[in-house]
Amino acid sequence: MRYSALSVFLNGLRGNKGWGAAWRSPQPKPHYDVVIVGGGGHGLATAYYLAKEFGITNVAVVEKGYIGSGNVGRNTTIIRSNYLLQGNNPFYELSMKLWEGLEQDFNFNAMVSQRGVVNLYHSDAQRDAYTRRGNAMRLHGVDADLLDREQVRAMLPFLDFDNARFPIQGGLMQKRGGTVRHDAVAWGYARGADMRGVDIIQDCEVTGIRRENGAVTGVETTKGFIGCGKLALAAAGNSSRVAAMADMKLPLESHVLQAFVSEGLKPFIDCVVTFGAGHFYCSQSDKGGLVFGGDIDGYNSYAQRGNLATVEHVAEAGKAMIPGLSRVRVLRSWGGIMDMSMDGSPIIDRTHIDNLYLNSGWCYGGFKATPASGFCFAHLIARNTPQETATAFRLDRFARGFMLDEKGQGAQPNLH
Ligand SMILES: Cc1cc2nc3c(=O)[nH]c(=O)nc-3n(C[C@H](O)[C@H](O)[C@H](O)COP(=O)(O)OP(=O)(O)OC[C@H]3O[C@@H](n4cnc5c(N)ncnc54)[C@H](O)[C@@H]3O)c2cc1C
Repeated sequence: MRYSALSVFLNGLRGNKGWGAAWRSPQPKPHYDVVIVGGGGHGLATAYYLAKEFGITNVAVVEKGYIGSGNVGRNTTIIRSNYLLQGNNPFYELSMKLWEGLEQDFNFNAMVSQRGVVNLYHSDAQRDAYTRRGNAMRLHGVDADLLDREQVRAMLPFLDFDNARFPIQGGLMQKRGGTVRHDAVAWGYARGADMRGVDIIQDCEVTGIRRENGAVTGVETTKGFIGCGKLALAAAGNSSRVAAMADMKLPLESHVLQAFVSEGLKPFIDCVVTFGAGHFYCSQSDKGGLVFGGDIDGYNSYAQRGNLATVEHVAEAGKAMIPGLSRVRVLRSWGGIMDMSMDGSPIIDRTHIDNLYLNSGWCYGGFKATPASGFCFAHLIARNTPQETATAFRLDRFARGFMLDEKGQGAQPNLH
């Protein structure tokens, strides 16, 4: 069924009894052309674009929990395309353009809200770095505005402009950045893929990768063996575990990232604002809760929970930026597992193993990339060549020394 104002109206007249399930719950078939491991945003988007753009519909998405139970349903929902480097900028701008048409495209309300993203700067050096980044964005046709202190104050008067350690001098704004309701993205892509014939198989964990003469032929799962022509890994924080089933060691570390939501408040932040002197970012949800987060927990972990040291660190950074936060009650916090790559950039590539494709290394910026990642991964799987905006995301860059280090921070996961 296509969702529309008319279908809402007609179903309202019939007591809302006409709505069917948004996607099926099929049993796995013995063989698919493509099996995708991971029913997160990237896996589901890949399935959607494989079916819609490349006509490959004999596809299964195999998810160990329920779809959206991973990072796609745990992130702070921020989207932006404010990148400096040539290898990144066109890809994230493709993603932004796909976000802009996504709800019409997959016929689902994902609450795409281009409310603007402001990155604050606190020193002359940081202003110069942001000016450079803004110029690079504009050269790539991406919108960017450098705001001075008074322009930021007019937008966000509650910030601590005169903080003794971190005085705010201004900000770099991308007006087209903003937020998207994260789990609706998973649901919209799932429904769109299912409508085109993709099987979404939940509660089905991949436990092994079967190979014959070196080439991948299928996966062992908790629902039995599923054969495939091509196997696509999109397991985010569990990428290294799944790749290990094919004896691959990835240049990734898994770390927890936590996020927080406060009690509901009257609307007072109408954009996304980030602290430039530490790691803190904040927006306000439509229900009024402040949604915020900070840095990863420093140690490696596959557990979807964090610890109190990082909670304290986030609270400190938040209060340095918005002193009024000290009076706000936090309702919930949670964690997700990040696939931190050693240069902070993702991997979308074929592997050295026949029929095995890899999508990982999103660190804590993979939500905004979801549409472009799905599109480019589907392109790679269908055509065996990288999509033109994703040519820098090769796996062998770590061996060849062609890092894509957007922040210039080196191989330190906590600084990406
Ligand atoms: C707290 C937090 C805040 C964040 N904030 C932002 C933000 O504001 N903006 C942004 O751009 N990014 C953000 N991110 C990062 C972003 O959420 C991730 O980079 C992105 O969601 C990862 O891709 P995914 O959606 O496919 O991952 P996931 O949703 O994690 O999907 C991977 C799936 O693979 C499944 N899986 C794993 N192993 C197996 C197996 N063996 N068999 C079957 N299935 C398996 C998992 O269950 C999971 O559902 C944030 C992340 C977190 C945790």
